[in-house]
Amino acid sequence: MKNKRQLIVISLIFVQFIVALNYTSYCQTMYSEKALIGVGDLNFDGNDVKLQKEVFEAFYNMQNAALKDSISIQIVSAYRSYKRQKKIWNRKFKKYTSQGFSEIESINKIIEYSTIPGTSRHHWGTDIDIVDNAVEAPKKMLIEQNYTRGGVYSKLKNWMDLNSEKYGFYLVYDNNTARKGFKYEPWHFSYKLVSKPMLKDFLTVDLIRLLQKKDIAGSYLFSEDFLKKYISEQVLDINLNLK
Ligand SMILES: [Zn+2]
Repeated sequence: MKNKRQLIVISLIFVQFIVALNYTSYCQTMYSEKALIGVGDLNFDGNDVKLQKEVFEAFYNMQNAALKDSISIQIVSAYRSYKRQKKIWNRKFKKYTSQGFSEIESINKIIEYSTIPGTSRHHWGTDIDIVDNAVEAPKKMLIEQNYTRGGVYSKLKNWMDLNSEKYGFYLVYDNNTARKGFKYEPWHFSYKLVSKPMLKDFLTVDLIRLLQKKDIAGSYLFSEDFLKKYISEQVLDINLNLK
């Protein structure tokens, strides 16, 4: 009888130990904060265009398939570092404020299409902006009209609508009118198998501490309320398949 009770107690302790172990691994993130905000820790493939190896492989498969239909998918933007995003941000901030917009108006104008440094999906090496190299490049490539009916990239767009998800690539900022955050970007795709877990980890980063850094122009205006809204709209109001 005593042995039986001892066995039950030992079994219970063992079960508790296993549960605790699983819980700990559940709480841990797969990616470091540095990797998630574009300041290192990820291994990329490629020279001018950098992506995670797995993403490149999936991209090549998709690119080859599209070539058979006379579409030459070209990446114009893939991995972008924090430093690069900061340059884009600060340049736009300067441009808008010098045009007479207030600082907060300028920030709101920038975040129609561009992210605050540290929060870009392009930091992850999972997201791409694409055009079709089989047609002559227009002066401005990444604008909506090029991808809609009659636009130079409409053939590419139709092909992606039919095929991209088979290769794991999903439109991030789709044309769902109920969506807030970034405007419709028919050129921006994400490799879901890698970016979905990265988004989950990214949400554990203390963005308030991170984004009030001095080297981002206007960052003193990133109040807690502003950032909460930014995260719920710009970061999270995306294609539902990617959440
Ligand atoms: Zn993009």
